[in-house]
Amino acid sequence: MSVDKTIRHVKALATGIKYLVSSKRMTLMYPDEIEEFPDGYRGMIKYNWDTCIKCGLCAMVCPADAMKMYISKEESEEGKKPVRRPGINYARCVFCGFCVAICPTNSLKFTKVHDVVYNTLEEQVYPPEKFREGVPKPQYKKKPKKMRAILDEERGLRYEPVE
Ligand code: SF4
Ligand code: SF4
Repeated sequence: MSVDKTIRHVKALATGIKYLVSSKRMTLMYPDEIEEFPDGYRGMIKYNWDTCIKCGLCAMVCPADAMKMYISKEESEEGKKPVRRPGINYARCVFCGFCVAICPTNSLKFTKVHDVVYNTLEEQVYPPEKFREGVPKPQYKKKPKKMRAILDEERGLRYEPVE
């Protein structure tokens, strides 16, 4: 290895050690600490059953085939044309926001919830009746501390507790 490369390696190691012992950490100690997300953050989607006009635009525009129109078991009657409502599959959703933006009645809204654990792919599918119930609550072993990401001119990113 050239002298130049050795010097660069030593400098990189020194930088790592400096930040390791520094009180200003660049890392978030998840799940004991969680980030406070800004307004407009695209987390899991809240669906308003009452204002939805079942137009299907959200399903039509979804690029990931995550939002689909499902037969509403609650509203469909035998022998009649089935009533369809939207449902979402979070295993496919890329959180692009197209469905939220196109909805003519604002029946879809982003929340700041994103860290929910599922055991199976099936659990990530929300047909209309389940979609209506709202977004699940993340399960933390103990209440996490909220941290805010700060842009630091010298260090890049660092986290500070939210007051
Ligand atoms: S956020 Fe994007 S990917 Fe997710 S359901 Fe809506 S349109 Fe589809
Ligand atoms: S959620 Fe909005 S876009 Fe989707 S079917 Fe209902 S009204 Fe239409």
